[in-house]
Amino acid sequence: DKNQKRLPEWIRVKVNRGGNRNELSTELRDRKLNTVCEEAKCPNLAECWHERTATFMLLGVNCTRACRFCAIGYDKPLPPDPEEPANVAETAAKMDLQYVVITSVARDDLDDEGSDQFAKTIRAVREKLPDAGIEVLTPDFNGKEDLIRMTLDAMPTVFNHNLETCERLSPPIRGRAKYKRSLEVLKNAKAWSKGKVLTKSGIMVGLGETDEEVIDCINDLFAANVDILTIGQYLPPSRKHWKLDRYVRPEQFEEWKEYAEKLGFNAVASGPMVRSSYKAGQLITAKLEE
Ligand code: SF4
Ligand code: SF4
Repeated sequence: DKNQKRLPEWIRVKVNRGGNRNELSTELRDRKLNTVCEEAKCPNLAECWHERTATFMLLGVNCTRACRFCAIGYDKPLPPDPEEPANVAETAAKMDLQYVVITSVARDDLDDEGSDQFAKTIRAVREKLPDAGIEVLTPDFNGKEDLIRMTLDAMPTVFNHNLETCERLSPPIRGRAKYKRSLEVLKNAKAWSKGKVLTKSGIMVGLGETDEEVIDCINDLFAANVDILTIGQYLPPSRKHWKLDRYVRPEQFEEWKEYAEKLGFNAVASGPMVRSSYKAGQLITAKLEE
């Protein structure tokens, strides 16, 4: 494939030769659980699972939104599975995860937009794995205070909501999600948790944004009191998705990291293969040990 050949050398996909991957995949299927790691065919899967980090996706694989960069399918969603919180907790325990990332599709069709399932899953995981870090990567809950609080009240270690891209490109790329609203969600989450929950957000580059617009995103996220920042290379999931604009060089990612650290973020992951949950555990452990 020509597209594959044009990948720059710093975009590396590690091949998973590892031991228990099949066993885990079977376990996940038996429990009707989905992971972003598998669903999005994440290139970091081997590394993450080996390092005992995985991202569970709650509430099915059909999303009520259709963001142009996203590998998740747009379709009529199924009713929430009441066994899901316990199943995630038991599987996370079996995988002996040290850091559990929990995300979901956007469920604009549900009254609580899925927030209750997040809260229940956080509590179930904490009971089974009291020492594990728990990070939730949530949709914007349409900015609703009661729904954001419902998730925060279960006290995740980290509340993550991705900004994804710059303000100019948000309407065509993120569909119903809005740049300013996402910043507000983050700022409010920090305030409403009384600072007890770390906040985190991420952007992708290579969507058509300029370097200046990346700096604007970093500044805006810092102004929203975000603690942890991730910046990664966008890779289109298919030809039907938003077209790739550029491969950003590793040195540029490094510059943004230095800029953001100087600005005062607690932790920054910036690099071609960085994903929202990539090395999430290490990022925050390093922070807590400081
Ligand atoms: Fe899973 Fe996230 Fe790691 Fe990818 S980066 S394998 S989605 S935990
Ligand atoms: Fe993908 Fe989230 Fe957008 Fe749904 S809301 S299409 S899961 S990025």
